[in-house]
Amino acid sequence: MSKYVYMFGGGTADGDGTMKDLLGGKGSGLAEMSRAGVPVPPGFTIITDVCNVFFDNDKQVPAEVDRQIWEALDKLEGLAGKKLGDAADPLLLSVRSGAKFSMPGMMNTILNLGLNDKTVEGLVAKTGNPRFAYDCYRRFIQMFGEVALGIDMVLFDEAFDARKHKIKAKQDTDLTAEDLKAVIDEYKKIVQKATKKPFPQDTREQLILSRNAVFMSWWAPKASYYRKMEKISDRLGTACNIQTMVFGNMGETSCTGVGFTRDPGSGEKVFYGEFLVNAQGEDVVAGIRTPQPISELEAWNAGVYTQLRGITASLEKHYKDMQDFEFTVEEGKLYMLQTRNGKRTGPAAVKVAVDMVAEKLIDEKTAVGRVAPSQLDQLLHPVFDAASLRQLTKLATGIDASPGAAVGRLAFTSEDAVEMSAHGPVILIRKETTPDDIHGMDASKGILTAVGGKSSHAAVVARGMGVPCVVGCGAIAINERAKTATVKAGDKTLAVKEGDWVSINGATGEVYLGQAQTKDPDPNSPVFARFMKMADQFRGDFGVRANADIPRDAKAARNFGAEGIGLCRTEHMFFAEDRLPYVQAMILSESEKDRRKALAKLLPMQRKDFAGLFEAMDGFPVVIRTLDPPLHEFVPKREELMVDIAKLPSADIKTKKDMVARYKNFGAEVKTLKTLLPDLLKRVEALHEFNPMLGHRGCRLGITYPEITEMQARAIFEAVVQVAKKGKKVIPEVMIPLIGGKEELENQQAIVKRVADEVLAKAGMQSQKYLIGTMIEIPRAALLADKVAEVAQFFSFGTNDLTQTTMGLSRDDYTKFSKEYEEKKIFKADPFGVLDQEGVGMLIEWAVQKGRETRPDLEVGICGEHGGEPSSVMFCYRVGMDYVSCSPYRVPIARLAAAQAAISGDKSEAMRTA
Ligand code: ADP
Ligand code: MG
Ligand code: MG
Repeated sequence: MSKYVYMFGGGTADGDGTMKDLLGGKGSGLAEMSRAGVPVPPGFTIITDVCNVFFDNDKQVPAEVDRQIWEALDKLEGLAGKKLGDAADPLLLSVRSGAKFSMPGMMNTILNLGLNDKTVEGLVAKTGNPRFAYDCYRRFIQMFGEVALGIDMVLFDEAFDARKHKIKAKQDTDLTAEDLKAVIDEYKKIVQKATKKPFPQDTREQLILSRNAVFMSWWAPKASYYRKMEKISDRLGTACNIQTMVFGNMGETSCTGVGFTRDPGSGEKVFYGEFLVNAQGEDVVAGIRTPQPISELEAWNAGVYTQLRGITASLEKHYKDMQDFEFTVEEGKLYMLQTRNGKRTGPAAVKVAVDMVAEKLIDEKTAVGRVAPSQLDQLLHPVFDAASLRQLTKLATGIDASPGAAVGRLAFTSEDAVEMSAHGPVILIRKETTPDDIHGMDASKGILTAVGGKSSHAAVVARGMGVPCVVGCGAIAINERAKTATVKAGDKTLAVKEGDWVSINGATGEVYLGQAQTKDPDPNSPVFARFMKMADQFRGDFGVRANADIPRDAKAARNFGAEGIGLCRTEHMFFAEDRLPYVQAMILSESEKDRRKALAKLLPMQRKDFAGLFEAMDGFPVVIRTLDPPLHEFVPKREELMVDIAKLPSADIKTKKDMVARYKNFGAEVKTLKTLLPDLLKRVEALHEFNPMLGHRGCRLGITYPEITEMQARAIFEAVVQVAKKGKKVIPEVMIPLIGGKEELENQQAIVKRVADEVLAKAGMQSQKYLIGTMIEIPRAALLADKVAEVAQFFSFGTNDLTQTTMGLSRDDYTKFSKEYEEKKIFKADPFGVLDQEGVGMLIEWAVQKGRETRPDLEVGICGEHGGEPSSVMFCYRVGMDYVSCSPYRVPIARLAAAQAAISGDKSEAMRTA
C-alpha cells in the first residue's frame, strides 16, 4: 500500500532530508532536523502526490489518505499526551504548506487549529492564561476564515482595529482577555454572515478543511505567477505539514523569530535575523510591531541564544550551505520550525562560496556551482541605496536592458547630452536610439528609451558600454522639440523637462524622478578575484574574449579577465565626430579616385585605433571585422532631407542656419543649400534600399568597393607593425562579415592577404602570424561550412544576424509581438537574448563539425549577444567552440558559465536551461 503520510518528531522521522520531492522542502527539513535530535514540535507530512490526486479528483482525496491521516493523528496525540478537540486539555496544530522549491509567502499556513468554544476554555484553565488562549482563538478564526473559508481578511482587520481604537490600544498586545473575547464574538459574526453557517466547531472538520485549503493555495494566483517566473513545474504540488503548535505568544518569556546563519545581503559570517517577544510567527512578517535584531536575543535569554546558535551552526554544517531558519521559544524552551538553504544576493553568494571553501565546508567545485552566473551582474554594476530610493517618486517601469544604477539630468538629444555632460551626469532620453546617437550615449551615465526591447539598438549598445539602460518605457511620451516628456504614473500625468534629475535602474527597469544615492561595487575585490580564479581553473582551454571597439573598452575587458577581443566592429570608429565627414565623403564619392582620397584620410585614424587595441591586448588575439553596416546609416536620412528641401523656400535665416549646421559635413553654406540639398538627396536615394539589413552591406561592400577593404587591411597591418616594433606580441585576426559561401570570402581574403604580406614584408616581419577568417551569420555559409573552411582560418558565429536570417525575424521588429510569442510559449525565450539551440543551434553544430572536417585546427568562437548569456555559453562549450566573446561587463558571467559547463560536463544540462 502507498504511504501518503510521514511522521516526524521525538528524535526520529519516517522521512529524511533527501526526500524533498515527496515531503516538500519544509517537510524534509523537519524530518531531517528530528532525526538529528534538534527540538522540533512533532507532526506529520501529507506527501506532495496527494495534492495532485486532490486536483485530479475534483478536490477529493482517497479514503486511504484520510485513514493514514487519522492514524498519524493518533500517534501524534500519543506523543504529545493531548488530544485534538479535548475540552480539558486540547492538542493544537499548525497546518503548513511546503513545496519542493521554496515559494516564500506564496502559499498558506493555518495556526492554532483545534480551538473552538469549548477547547478554548480548556486552554484557559490549563494554562491559567486567558489572554493567551483567547489570542490564539481569535488568530485561528481569522486565519481559518481567510484561508479555508475565503473570507476577506479586511473584515477581520476592521473588527480588530475597531476594538483597538475603542480602548485606545497602541499595540496588539495591549488588548486584554476581555477585549479578545469581544473580538472573537465579532469574528464569529463575520463568519456567520459570510458563510451562512457558524464557525466550524468540529476539530476534525477543521483539520480536513485546512488541509484542503493548503492544497488549494498551490493554485493561488500569486503562487502560479511565482512558479512561472521561477520556471517551477505546476505538477510538483505542495505537501501539507500538520504539526503540534508551540507558542511564542505565551507571555514575556516566549518569542518567535527568523534568521540566517550568515548575512544574506553581504554574505558576511554574522548571525542575522530578528525576533518578537510574545508573538506568533506571522507577526514578524506582517510588520505590526517592529521586531528586535537577533543580537538582542542574548540579553533576553542567554541560554536560548547559545542553544539557537549551536543548532543553526550545526544545521549549516550538516547542509553545507547558509541556512534560513524559523524558531519559536515557548516559556523559555526553544523549538526549530523550519530550515532551508537561504536565498541570497549576488555579492553574498560569492562571499559565502569563497568563505565556505576556506572553512573547508565545501570544495571548490561545489563553490563554483553555488553562484548563478547571472548573479554576478550585481557585482559588476553600481547599485542604488535602497533607503534613498524610497524618498523618490517612481515615474515608470520599462524593460531592464542593461543593469546598473544611474543618476543624472535628462538630455533629449545626443548633442545636448554631450554638452550637458561637461557639467554633470546626464541621462539620455530618446524615443529610440540609432547609430548616430553613439556619442550622446557615450557621454551619458544612463539611457532611457520609450520604445524597443532587450535587443534594440539602445539595449545592445548600452550593454556593450556597460551603461545602465531602460528601454521600451511605453508610459513616457517624449516631445523632442520641446525637450519635455509626460509620464502617466497611475492616474496622474507628470511632466519632466530637460535638466530634471532622474534615477534609472537598469536591472529592474524602474525610473524615478529625483536623485538617488548609488554605491559602486568593486569587480577586483579580493573575494571576487578569488572566486573567479577558482572558477577559471575548471574552464581549461575554453576562452572568453570581449567585444570591444575602442582601446578604452579593451582595457575594461582585460580588467574583467577577457583573453582577447572576439569582435571589433570597425564602423563604430567611423561614427566619431572627427571621422564622419571623411566617411560620408567616401560614401558619396562618385569615382574610385575620390573614394581613395577620403579613405586616405581615414587610414591613419583607423591605424591609431587598431594600435590601441593591440597594445591593450598584448599577447592576446584581436579579431577585427571589416566594414559591415549598410552605407546609408552614415548619411542623412532620406525623409529628413525631403522635409528640409520642402521647407527651404519659405525658411527664415535661423532655420537656414540650422540646416547649414546639419549639413556642415557636406560643405553646406546658406547660399548653397538650394543646390546642395537636392543633390545630396539624389545621392542618398541612390543608396536607398528596401531591406537594408539584407542589402548592400557586409562583404558585399568590400566586394563592390575593394579599396575600402584594402584601406582597412592596411590600417590593421601597419598597426601590427607599429605595436610589434615596441616589443609587444600582436595576434591579429581579420574577419570578413556576412558571407554566404566560399567565393565571397575568397575575394576578400585575397585583398587582405595581399596587403598584409606587402606591409609585413616591407617591415621585414614575414614571420608575423595572422589569421583571415569569417563570420558565420547566414545559413548558407553554415550549411556550406566545409567549403568555407577551405579558405577561412577561423569561424566566429555572428548569432545576432544568424538568428535573424535563420528565423526570418528582424530583431527590431520582433518586439512588436514578442510578448504574445513568449506568453503563448511559441518561443521559449527571446531568441535574441537566449540562443535558439534547437534551430539556430543546429546550424551552429553542423558548421562547427563540417568546418573542422576540412580544417581540424579551425578556430571557432561566437561573437553575438548570446556570447554573454549563461545557457548559450554552456551550449557553445558543449558544441566544442574554442571561445565565446561578449561585452566587457559580461566577461565574468561568461567565465563562470563556462566553468559550470565544464564542471557539469552534462550535455543535457546546457540544453535544459534554454
Ligand atoms: P511559510 O512557508 O510561509 O514560511 P510556515 O508554514 O513556515 O509558512 O509558517 C509561517 C510561520 O508560522 C512560521 O514561521 C512559524 O512562526 C509559524 N508556525 C508554523 N508552524 C508552527 C508551529 N507548529 N508552532 C508555532 N508556530 C508555527
Ligand atoms: Mg516558513
Ligand atoms: Mg552581422
